[in-house]
Amino acid sequence: MGDWLARIHFPDGRVIYANYSTITGSVLETLYSSYIPQGEQDENGYYPFDRGRNRVDRDSKLPEHSDLPISDPDDLIPVRVDVEASRSWTALFCPRRNQLLGPISPGMGDLIQREFLLILQNGKQHLAFDKAAQTLCGEPVSGEELPFHYFEWNGIRDPDPLPPKRDLFQEWNGGQICRACLLRATLTCRDGGWDENPPPPIPAERVTEYPGKPAGRFSALLQLVGILALIGVGVFVLRAAIGYVFPP
Ligand SMILES: [Zn+2]
Repeated sequence: MGDWLARIHFPDGRVIYANYSTITGSVLETLYSSYIPQGEQDENGYYPFDRGRNRVDRDSKLPEHSDLPISDPDDLIPVRVDVEASRSWTALFCPRRNQLLGPISPGMGDLIQREFLLILQNGKQHLAFDKAAQTLCGEPVSGEELPFHYFEWNGIRDPDPLPPKRDLFQEWNGGQICRACLLRATLTCRDGGWDENPPPPIPAERVTEYPGKPAGRFSALLQLVGILALIGVGVFVLRAAIGYVFPP
């Protein structure tokens, strides 16, 4: 329990550090340039509760610019996040904000696969919500859906068997994945909500399969019921009137 040291590895070999909280199951936002090896005193001369644990050097806090716009997708850096005694995963780092955009916890690959369809069009693989008119990067959906999206809950699986698990973040530099789509998906699915700036709204318009038809059918049914009720009331009043004028 508690904080574990997370190492954030850049492609050029640089490493920075963050706290990974087992309470939230995620890397915390503040980044540090160095860490204190296990067994050493902290900045106040105290030994940590668990001397056997590495921890961030709080004096080496790196500047944050979370108020700046996110870098262009092509300028984002895929980094490897390693948490001691835990898992490691690929995440996107924004150089302009000096911030880890996400995933801030392992397992977002599964979430993206459950949330979005993968569409092949214009030579790239794009992400889109089910039945959306546009991809997350704003192109009209026109291509073919690749085996990717799945639904799994309480023993129900669709499709069955499920498509293979796929971590699109590991494919960031592969040239197949639309980076703008994956960035948008990352911001949409971000766990925790530690970012002050919410992601921009999703441009995709959700469309129903038969726009207007169910409502049309329903109102036609209501009209029919109304007419029948009127006829029923009319007949009732007429029979009552006849019975009044010509008592049996
Ligand atoms: Zn796209």
